[in-house]
Amino acid sequence: MKVLVINAGSSSLKYQLFDMNGEQVLAKGLCERIGIDGHITHTPLLEGKQVFDEDVPLPDHQAAIAIVMEKLMSPESGVIADKSEIKAVGHRVVHGGEHFSASSLIDENVLQGIQDCVPLAPLHNPANITGITACQAVLGNNVPQVAVFDTAFHQTMPRHAYTYAIPYDYYEKHKIRRYGFHGTSHRYVADRAAEMLGRPLEELKLISCHMGNGSSVCAIDGGKSVDTSMGFTPLAGVPMGTRSGDIDPSIIEFLTEKEGLTVKEVLNILNKKSGVLGVSGVSSDFRDLGKAASSGNELAALALEEFYYGVSKYIGAYAVAMGGVDAIIFTAGIGENGATEREAICKNLGVIGLKLDPEKNKVRGKQVDVTAEGSKGRVLVIPTNEELVIARDTLEIVAD
Ligand code: AMP
Repeated sequence: MKVLVINAGSSSLKYQLFDMNGEQVLAKGLCERIGIDGHITHTPLLEGKQVFDEDVPLPDHQAAIAIVMEKLMSPESGVIADKSEIKAVGHRVVHGGEHFSASSLIDENVLQGIQDCVPLAPLHNPANITGITACQAVLGNNVPQVAVFDTAFHQTMPRHAYTYAIPYDYYEKHKIRRYGFHGTSHRYVADRAAEMLGRPLEELKLISCHMGNGSSVCAIDGGKSVDTSMGFTPLAGVPMGTRSGDIDPSIIEFLTEKEGLTVKEVLNILNKKSGVLGVSGVSSDFRDLGKAASSGNELAALALEEFYYGVSKYIGAYAVAMGGVDAIIFTAGIGENGATEREAICKNLGVIGLKLDPEKNKVRGKQVDVTAEGSKGRVLVIPTNEELVIARDTLEIVAD
């Protein structure tokens, strides 16, 4: 059975087509600059098929889905003969609020539920809805579609972990609370970790560090998320590529006064011009920062140090929150590829019984146990695969 996975952003749309017999990716790609001009990169993974990388007009998401279907079926770059081969579509949806604690078959009620969460994720949910309606328009209403939420995995957090210490009214009236994100990734790597350790997930205390453009740390006790560093929005937690992570909220008003900015402008700075980019002034990309720091750029070194410190503090906090830790997991762009970053984060983790072996740690993009001899807990590198989780959830839901 073939399942199409869609991750729709405001001006982009990523896709992967899976053959779920064997969980093989048949093709993947990216439509960019939707609503501006348009570009598609389509990569078929079957032998003899051509990669397609071209400017094409993409006035809206429906046009993007239409061109994706054209590429998936074309003689040169296609991997299916007809669109009827696609039996279901799985969508990444960023915010499911408190409505959704699991992936859901999309019907009018679910679509309304996603719509109701727009105030919680004003940039992401509208784009996700556009992706869903575009697929309905191009593939027809008979192809089932499933929503897989970034927030759903974290709905198991206990009340004391998700409640902010502000008047309780605001939670009741406006649902202001910690939601957490990257749930699909944290869930996937936790399952893989249990497999690697050869132990049931229900017995394990894990700390998952998803470190990419956005980063979040998650405490997973017995397979359930019990705390996570992102909050009401993905702005909270550790410093990220361009996001500040946790700051004192009073800074916002202070900056509006000192710099003559609106709250919106300050939030834009905290989302897009802060994090390691803001501190270093160099880049949001950790490879550029590493190079700059090695050639003596002090602010690049400071930005990196702040990131390592931030992640390791969360690891320490979550070890305490769970009363122990069996393994920590590094995943996503930096977690999977950044050996230097992993080593720096683990520098002080001996105190909670975790030691990394610098030799074993010399790996990139592979699933490896990098634990040092004598360490009580394990240190694991596990490449994430959010698309596969979305495809699996979709298959499971439509097969029911
Ligand atoms: P993601 O959001 O998961 O795609 O991760 C993207 C981030 O991964 C980029 O900002 C890079 O800084 C980082 N990254 C990719 N390769 C490496 C590497 N070899 N070392 C350190 N960071 C890396």
